[in-house]
Amino acid sequence: MSTPERIDLHVHSHCSDGTLAPAALVALAVQREVQWLALTDHDTVAGCAEAASACAAAASSGFAPRFVPGTELTCDWHGREIHVVGLAIDTAQAAMATHLDGLRALRRSRLQEMGRRLQSAGLPGETLVATILAQPTSATRMHLARSLAAAGHVSDPEEAFERWLKRGRPGYAPAQWPTLAATVAAIGTAGGLAVLAHAQRYQLSGGGLRDLVAHFRECGGHGIEVSLAGVSPGDADRLASLARRFDLAGSVASDFHAPGLPWRPLGRFAKLPDGIRPILDELRRRLP
Ligand code: AMP
Ligand code: MN
Ligand code: MN
Ligand code: MN
Repeated sequence: MSTPERIDLHVHSHCSDGTLAPAALVALAVQREVQWLALTDHDTVAGCAEAASACAAAASSGFAPRFVPGTELTCDWHGREIHVVGLAIDTAQAAMATHLDGLRALRRSRLQEMGRRLQSAGLPGETLVATILAQPTSATRMHLARSLAAAGHVSDPEEAFERWLKRGRPGYAPAQWPTLAATVAAIGTAGGLAVLAHAQRYQLSGGGLRDLVAHFRECGGHGIEVSLAGVSPGDADRLASLARRFDLAGSVASDFHAPGLPWRPLGRFAKLPDGIRPILDELRRRLP
């Protein structure tokens, strides 16, 4: 079966740290002729119903992407924050809802602790965090980075991460995320496919990365993001090798958050390297 070239299986809306509403995201995907689109907000499925309706509405008047309900789950592996995308999950499943509720509670308490740490460093962290937590979105450090920039404490969100929010900086606080094993299991129980997200970003050595991927596979992980927006050729080769070595299906992902960031365009025209099973083959079976 031929694989469509315009697929994007990792995208954020304003239900987490993206800037577009789910329907606006779908409109952009229609404009770009994206054939398969997964919404994968951090630790929430709140935007999936709106995105699915928008795809259905677009389909009735012409072209629309096939919609894949998903989420990007935060978890822990040996003290590192790892992201696992769950694709084609049952968004109404009770156990998944409980898992997601727990993650968002961790996010809120972590952000409150970060607000206190910023306050100790002389910034109005507590007020900024209270404003973020008054919104119904899945609260992320990106929201805090944008607030710090909007209030003029840094020139842009990137600087907020560099000076205050990334690991090792004064405003950073860790959280006790669920394990990788529990996370992959939760995705499987919700009927979905677990995909290891952006493995090149975890700052692991070659051996560390192999250990992570081996463990992910043993836990029941199904795929790994191989065709990603903005990766170096060396990283792209490493990801492809890991997919082949551990017999993981390859996924295609922009990790789109906002229009106007040219290195992460929605629905980039991606082709998986030879010898890698496209995860779309399995998605077609699950979402006929
Ligand atoms: P959180 O999941 O709350 O830790 O927030 C992490 C989100 O912030 C990620 O999903 C990215 O969108 C963004 N992010 C993380 N690190 C950086 C960074 N160094 N520069 C810019 N954005 C970042
Ligand atoms: Mn994000
Ligand atoms: Mn991520
Ligand atoms: Mn993401």
